[in-house]
Amino acid sequence: MKQEWLRKTIRSFTPYKVPEIKEHIVINANESPYDIFNFPDVKKDFLTRLAKLPSYHYPDPFANTLRKALGRYVSAEYNEILAGNGGDEMIQLILNTFIDEGDTILVHVPTFDVYEIDGQVLGARIVKVPDSEDFKREGETFLEAIRKWQPKVTFICNPNNPTGDIWPVSLIEKMIQASPGIVVVDEAYMEFSGQESMISRLHSHDNLIVIRTLSKAFGLAGFRLGYCVANADIINAVSLTKPSYNLNSFTQLMGVVALEHSEEILKHNVPPTIAVRDYLIERLRTIKGVEVFPSAANFILVRTYDGPRYVKTLSEADICVRSYGNRADLANCLRITATTEYVANKILKVFQKEASHEDC
Ligand SMILES: *Cc1c(COP(=O)(O)O)cnc(C)c1O
Repeated sequence: MKQEWLRKTIRSFTPYKVPEIKEHIVINANESPYDIFNFPDVKKDFLTRLAKLPSYHYPDPFANTLRKALGRYVSAEYNEILAGNGGDEMIQLILNTFIDEGDTILVHVPTFDVYEIDGQVLGARIVKVPDSEDFKREGETFLEAIRKWQPKVTFICNPNNPTGDIWPVSLIEKMIQASPGIVVVDEAYMEFSGQESMISRLHSHDNLIVIRTLSKAFGLAGFRLGYCVANADIINAVSLTKPSYNLNSFTQLMGVVALEHSEEILKHNVPPTIAVRDYLIERLRTIKGVEVFPSAANFILVRTYDGPRYVKTLSEADICVRSYGNRADLANCLRITATTEYVANKILKVFQKEASHEDC
C-alpha cells in the first residue's frame, strides 16, 4: 500500500499491538471480576427477551428505551443522553463534532490515551498539562492552562485513569466556567468513587459533557455500552456524526435489562471492589520500596524501584498487570485492577517477596 494514501495525520502512527496474555489472572484493563450472567434474574430476563428479538430489524437508531433507562439511572432526561459502543465511541463522536484541524485539545497527563489518539487523527493540537511528581493534578495549574490555551475541547478524567486521582465537583465547575469550549468529564469509574457526578450540574453549564460506561462497575466491557450526558442541544449536535445504527439490538437489550437490575448489580459489584482496593492500598503501603498512590477508582497505581522486574515476577505468579514501557512520566509504574481478595493476597505475596529480595 502506498504510504501517501493514508491521511497525513496518521502516517506516523505505530500499529496497536495487543500482546498475547499468557497469565490467567488478568488485571491489566480494569475489568470487573463479576459476570452479569451470574445474576440469575438478569440472565433470565435477558435470555427471555433475546429470544423475542427480531434479528431482521435494524436496531432503534437512538436506543430510546435504553436512553430512558439510563435517564432513570443518572437522573437525566432521555434526550440528554446519547448511547453507543462504549465510552470510546463517545470520545470519538464528541471530537468529530467539535474539532477542526488545528484546534486545541487540552488534557492533563498521564490520562486515558484515547483522547490524544482520536485528537491526532483529526489533526488537533494536543496541549498536555503534566501532573506533579506524585500524580496529583494541580487545579490552579490546569485552570491557568485553560485560560492560556483557550481550548476547543478539554478532557478531565475523573477519577483519572491511570492515577486514581479525583477532583471535587466544585473545582471542575471552575474549569467549566473558565472554558471557552467544551469540557468533557470522563466518569468511567465514578461508581467506585463515592463522589457526586458532574451530571447533577448539567443544567448550570452549556458546555459540559459527561461520559459514563457500563464496562466497569456493571461488568459489561464485552458488550460495549457507554453513553454521554449533556444538555439536549449538545446531544443533538454530537448525534450528527453518529453512524445511523451505531448500537446493536443485542447490546441495547442488555443495557435495558442491566439497568432494571442496577441496584442489585451495583450493590453486589461495587462495595467488595472498593474494599479490595483499600485493602491493597493499605497493605502495599507497608512494603518497602513501593509507592502507592491514592485511588477513587477500581484500580491502583504503584511505583516500584524496578517496574519490569515486578511485571516479570507477577507474570510468574500468573498475574498480568498494566505497565507503561518506556514512558518517562510512568516509569516503573504498574496499574493494578482491584478485583477479589484472593487475587489481592496473591499480589501482596509477590510484592512482599520482592521487597525481601531488595533487602539482601
Ligand atoms: C474504560 C474507560 C472508558 C470507557 O471504556 P468503554 O469500554 O469504551 O466504555 C472511558 N474512559 C476511561 C478513562 C476508561 O478507563
